[in-house]
Amino acid sequence: MDGYILGIDIGGTKIALGIMDASLHLVDRREFPFDPALPAGEIFTMLREQIDSCLKTCSLCPAQITRIGIGVPGIINKDGRSLKFAANAQLLNNFPLYGALQTLFPKALIIMENDANAAAVAESTLGAGRGFAHMLYCTISTGVGCGIILNGKLFRGSHMAAGEIGHMIVYPGGEPCGCGGRGCAEAYAGGANYPRQIRRRIEAGEPTVMAELAKKHGRIDGRVLGEALTLNDPMAEEIFDGICACLGLLFYNIYKLLNIDCYVLGGGLTNLGAPLFERIHSHFQALRTGVDTMDEVHFLPAFFSSAEIGVYGAALVAHTL
Ligand SMILES: [Zn+2]
Repeated sequence: MDGYILGIDIGGTKIALGIMDASLHLVDRREFPFDPALPAGEIFTMLREQIDSCLKTCSLCPAQITRIGIGVPGIINKDGRSLKFAANAQLLNNFPLYGALQTLFPKALIIMENDANAAAVAESTLGAGRGFAHMLYCTISTGVGCGIILNGKLFRGSHMAAGEIGHMIVYPGGEPCGCGGRGCAEAYAGGANYPRQIRRRIEAGEPTVMAELAKKHGRIDGRVLGEALTLNDPMAEEIFDGICACLGLLFYNIYKLLNIDCYVLGGGLTNLGAPLFERIHSHFQALRTGVDTMDEVHFLPAFFSSAEIGVYGAALVAHTL
């Protein structure tokens, strides 16, 4: 590959960008927050200024950028040039970002990609999934999403929407999910949902240190759960085990379908560290039977931090164009 890659990761309130050289080193990286209430044109002007500043820092001219990857938190249209739907990327709603970037970089190849898919490419190319022909990257954060690599290549599905595993149903008729369904994996493991279960139990009068910790931190989240676990809080242990059981079941079903032997996990919940990986693995193993149990299956922490994976993912997706 000749030239440099520009990677742009778009979130709901911040954009990160970076320039990658031909040997896949990130030579400059930056991010800036923006007010999502601003008109898209103004946000694009800010993005353009940051791109100019990045180019200047690296002593590059626009013609030296030969590929551009844009990571977005939504589903992409089949042409890879526009977004079909993103709940949290106001900048992209009706804004012709692809065309605007093509005007700035007329000769560059440009691709948009779902951010979880882009992250899977990053982990597969340079991260924890390196060396595995088949791997799945799963982010467990507010929501649960994933990117699937089969035979070393990103698998996008017929409608570019593969990997929506957060909405695979693990417990039919179970907890309500933000998608409108019930019993989705995300309704148990997603940071937008499991705190609801904790609150419900606190309100019902069950004792837990999480009631006090929630007051201290102002909310119930993964940090509260993590602190309660270190204090051996029984309710925290039950909730934690429930999350891991749900994920173990989810990965077991995926494993039975695709026989993927490498699951790279990232996102806020993985701050719980080794106990999380061990417990998910143990629930996964408990479901396996017979000769199947002989084959090794890996659950690995993501190599890239959540702060850096977006830009690496966007740039590496463009690299594989
Ligand atoms: Zn759902």
